[in-house]
Amino acid sequence: MPPVIGKRIFTGVLNVLFPDNCPVCGNSSGNYEIYPFCDSCWHEIRPYSGPSCGVCGLPLPSTHSITCGECLKSPPDFARLRSYGLYEGGLKEAIHQLKFRNGRHLARPLARLLVESGLPENLPEAGVVIPVPLHHSRLFEREYNQSALLAREIAELAGMRLELNGLGKSRKTIPQVGLSRKLRLANLRGAFGITDGHRFDGCHVLLVDDVCTTGATLRECARVLAKAGAENVNAVTLARSTQDVWGVDDGADASGVND
Ligand SMILES: [Zn+2]
Ligand SMILES: [Zn+2]
Repeated sequence: MPPVIGKRIFTGVLNVLFPDNCPVCGNSSGNYEIYPFCDSCWHEIRPYSGPSCGVCGLPLPSTHSITCGECLKSPPDFARLRSYGLYEGGLKEAIHQLKFRNGRHLARPLARLLVESGLPENLPEAGVVIPVPLHHSRLFEREYNQSALLAREIAELAGMRLELNGLGKSRKTIPQVGLSRKLRLANLRGAFGITDGHRFDGCHVLLVDDVCTTGATLRECARVLAKAGAENVNAVTLARSTQDVWGVDDGADASGVND
């Protein structure tokens, strides 16, 4: 068979197996692990390496301060919050696929990005991984919790225990985007709770979420876990949205981005 015909058949088979094109560049994707992304756009997903708050990981405009104003004013119950990258470009698109386009299989390569970049850092092996929960009505709409998918993969890659049911969301919250700090806290207060029968005495917890903006949701989850006896709470997210923090609209839609 002439090579050009062989190539056409091969491309045809790929198009049947992977009908969607890469959402970043529009080229076809031939890698089922990161589908619908092409290899080159996936490898463009890079960690954030600029200055950030030593506690909550908030990207800071300069290296002069090492702790953000919010963490100085009211220190959170987590030791550290770290995010892999900024909520933009390929990472933003990948999270969108994971969340809204049924891209559940992307949880594994995304979790691998986190773990291979050294996150979560300095965690004792005996730690327990807990996803930020969705309210049951949201879970019903979306059918799965993207943070739980990520938490499962991180637990497996980091050799930690996964706890899917210990922390629950008992009250629905409105999207936090555009709310003042006071309203954000009021919106979240009492939204999360420990499920009956669960205790976290002496536990080292790693909280997992897909995106965070100010970190208020993770602060509230950490507060609840600390109250339930957790000795130490750390948090990781794939991305950090700077919308509403720097006053920059990065195009994040209010319904899709956690606080
Ligand atoms: Zn591409
Ligand atoms: Zn901070």
